[in-house]
Amino acid sequence: MNLIACHECDLVNRIPPLPRRAAARCVRCGGVLLRAKPDSVDRTIALTLAGIVLFLVACSFPFLSMENAGIVQETALFTGIYNLYKQKMVPLATLVLITCVLVPLAQMLGLLYVMIPLKRNRPARHTARVFRIYLHLKPWGLMEVYLIGILVALVKLGKMATIVPGLSVIAFGLLVFVLAGAYTALDPHLVWERLGGKS
Ligand SMILES: [Zn+2]
Repeated sequence: MNLIACHECDLVNRIPPLPRRAAARCVRCGGVLLRAKPDSVDRTIALTLAGIVLFLVACSFPFLSMENAGIVQETALFTGIYNLYKQKMVPLATLVLITCVLVPLAQMLGLLYVMIPLKRNRPARHTARVFRIYLHLKPWGLMEVYLIGILVALVKLGKMATIVPGLSVIAFGLLVFVLAGAYTALDPHLVWERLGGKS
């Protein structure tokens, strides 16, 4: 049994475990409090695993190749961050490294740590703590911003040189959507419920 405050009228409602595809509504104003997400655990795990594969591809294949006057220059995902360091923009390089590489990786690993044992109904020892960290990390994953930055740079550089997007940039773009999908599939109420309300 969960307690949820209504977003519309602030009334605190008691919510029993929801059946598949059901939604809980506020008893006073009828506002939707909670919607059951079918196969939430399986879909979250599948999308996160896909995310890990895409992450590995994004880290190991060429990001972009640039051709100008017969000279081809190939860059990798980490080249941009390394170049920022070299140009003495250390805080910016650190920020990009944290928000675009470390946070997404930590989120995916944390989510797998929480969800895989949960699927077998035997939560891992630090599930509650790891899940809370995952939820706090969410606003710090800024891969979308990085992706937009890349697209803008592509359009601008496209006038000066021939730009060929590498496998890495495609994987990186897909990763943004896959991670958003994993977050949408995730049902935090279900996680806390399976943990026996140890929130
Ligand atoms: Zn209400």
